[in-house]
Formats: sequence, C-alpha cells, structure tokens
Amino acid sequence: MRVRSHSPHDRNHSAPGTQTESSKDAAPHRARKRFGQNFLHDPRVIARIVDAIDPRPGQTIVEIGPGQAALTRPLVQRAGHLTAIEIDRDLADRLRGEFPPQQLTLIEADALAFDWGDLPGPLRLVGNLPYNISSPLLFSLATVAERVVDQHFMLQKEVVDRMVAPPGSKTYGRLSVMLQFRYRMVKLFDVPRGAFNPPPNVTSSIVRMVPIPVAQLPAVDADSFSRVVATAFGQRRKTLRNALATLLDASAISSAGVDPQARAETLANDAFVRLARKLGQLATFGVTRATG
Ligand code: SAM
Repeated sequence: MRVRSHSPHDRNHSAPGTQTESSKDAAPHRARKRFGQNFLHDPRVIARIVDAIDPRPGQTIVEIGPGQAALTRPLVQRAGHLTAIEIDRDLADRLRGEFPPQQLTLIEADALAFDWGDLPGPLRLVGNLPYNISSPLLFSLATVAERVVDQHFMLQKEVVDRMVAPPGSKTYGRLSVMLQFRYRMVKLFDVPRGAFNPPPNVTSSIVRMVPIPVAQLPAVDADSFSRVVATAFGQRRKTLRNALATLLDASAISSAGVDPQARAETLANDAFVRLARKLGQLATFGVTRATG
C-alpha cells in the first residue's frame, strides 16, 4: 500500500497541540476542530463497533467521515470494499494513498451537501459523526431513508438519549418524534472520552437506526407533520392549546383525539400524526388558522 505525504494546506485552521498519527510513514495529522475531528484509537471499541455493524461482502457500505481510517480499515477488511465521504482534503489524500480504488471509493465532499441519489442503493450507512453536524445530517438522511438498509452512528451520548427517548421522559423532544417516525432505533453502547484522540468533552454512544418500511408508515403530509412537531416543542412547557395556537385551536386539537391541555412531551408519535392530518385537512379547506 502507498502512503502519500501530508499536504501542507490550511494548517492555520488546525487545533493546536492535537497531532495524531494516522500511519507510521506519514507526518502527523493535526485534528481540526471545525471538522469535529476526534479520532478513535481504542482497538476494543473499534472492534465492538465493527462487530455491531457486521459488514459483509457485496453490501454497499458508506462511511461518513472516515478520518484516519480507524473504522475504515476493519470495514474494508471484512466487506472487501467501502465507499467513504470525507470533507478534509488532507485526510482524503491520505486515504487515497492507503487504499486502492478497488477497496475504497473515496468521495471528497461535504456529507451535508451530498446527493445520496448518486449512490446505488440499498445503502448501509456508518460513521463516527462530526458532532457539530449530527442533527442536520440525521434530518437530511431521513429524506432518503427509503434507500437505506440501516445506519450505525457514533454521536454524543446526549443526542442518542434524545433520539431514543420515550414520550413523557425529560429528553423526549422534536428529534425523538421526527426520527422515531421514520426509524426503529436502539442505543447499543456508550464510548468513553478516552477512546478518542483528542478526547471530546463528552461521552459518546453508538446508535443503530433501521428505517421503517414505507408501507408501514402512517399516511401523513411530511410538511404538516414537521410543522406540528416543531411548533408543539417550540414551547414545550405550554399546553398544546397554547403552544399550537398559531396552527390549531382547542376544538381542532380535541377532534384529532388529543387533549388540548396536554403538553407535547407527553404525546406519542401517532398523536402528532393525527394533529398533522387535522392541520392538513384545515389547509385543504383553505383555513390558515383555526378560530374559536
Ligand atoms: N471515522 C474516524 C474515526 O472514527 O476516528 C473519524 C471521525 S471524526 C469524529 C469525524 C470525521 O468526519 C473527520 O474525518 C472529519 O474530517 C469528517 N467530517 C467532518 N465534517 C464532515 C462533512 N460535513 N462531510 C464529510 N466528512 C466530514
């Protein structure tokens, strides 16, 4: 395998004092904070994550943010071939140097702006995600969930706890409702700060997300659903009657089978679906805001 030398561009943006070795022949890479670079180095944690993913030859596995290839190497070893999307030019150069194209299809791009339609599905998505883009990335991936088999991601523990939170719990919110609508999700295990170099400020967790088949999804307009959920949680301490006042009045909320005195954080997913349908019906009848 070839290892290309480190290219010197853009070093001024590096986080000082956080050099990490990606290969014994290459100059150390300086972890870039703006790209959320915390590189995994604990072999037991890496093995546990890859075992949870269980990569197989013939699957289209896409890694978001391969970095210094801590996960990429064992994934390539077990699957034979991997596609990876990396935004950092220096790291992309190194990856191209280490892996021949028959092992790694490297896409140098911003995963947030990437057109997932460019990749032939069905896709298995994996990644130790840069924490600064995790929520927008999860929302953008939900729009292509139909083409996805599963997703295994490392995220901040606090974010994973919110994703899998049940109604009525403190951490249940917009992220929980929107993602639970589209995926079955299970938190697999926590990963301590010390497993990374440089260590992040917070504990991380691995989550498995499996899209719910389209035929099993409730029929509801996606825009109405996300509007109702965002508005209800915009003022989560208020009753729905008050929090949703700009969209639905108390009688409309009641006629959706939901108590107007309840608060968003107590509602299960199907209650939001009924509220969104009610909003859709009112819009169909040309009522922009329900009254009295
Ligand atoms: N997978 C490696 C590991 O586990 O050690 C690196 C994980 S590091 C937390 C996040 C990686 O995502 C970095 O390689 C970073 O350059 C890359 N990255 C950050 N923002 C990105 C974006 N918008 N699109 C693609 N890659 C990105």
